[in-house]
Amino acid sequence: MYRVGHSVTGANLGVCITLACANWLHFPFLISILAGYLAYKGSNAPDYLEMRWYDRKHQELRTLIPHRTLTHWFVPWLALGAYATYQVSQGSVYWVLVASYCAGALLHIILDLPNKKPILGLLPHTGICLKWWGSHEHQFLICCFTTVLMGIFIYYCFQGSWEYIANNPVTVVRDIWYQIMYEANRLVS
Ligand SMILES: [Zn+2]
Repeated sequence: MYRVGHSVTGANLGVCITLACANWLHFPFLISILAGYLAYKGSNAPDYLEMRWYDRKHQELRTLIPHRTLTHWFVPWLALGAYATYQVSQGSVYWVLVASYCAGALLHIILDLPNKKPILGLLPHTGICLKWWGSHEHQFLICCFTTVLMGIFIYYCFQGSWEYIANNPVTVVRDIWYQIMYEANRLVS
């Protein structure tokens, strides 16, 4: 999958994580929003952590870490994500930021898996790929699918509140804004 596809699917995941944090886990709104943003950033992390640079001499794009190797290995992302989730479950709210970033990266790896170029398997010297389709194929379809999933998630997140939201949209937006401002003020004071 290409950058745009990873960004769209990452944004979908980010919205879901923000809502889950704020709505179900009752985390502060600022942390919830930041967690969603980091999931979005994480969804491109395996590619940009390869540190791409342009080789003028050979006129080609190169990476410091070979493409689809170390940063595309799911094991460290999964381990760090699991550790961060454990810390969250123990009450360390800020670890949700790490967990979200790892979730974004894992989504990236899952969406790279059907492509034809292998990524690292369970052991780093093995390579896996499903060879279902090329990186440039089916991006639009996958993005539509994850967007629909996000829509369903949003629907269930606010189930029971939709009538109130529809009747009082200004109040809802104002309350969210006040909460964010309250948290921001507490942060700086
Ligand atoms: Zn990739």
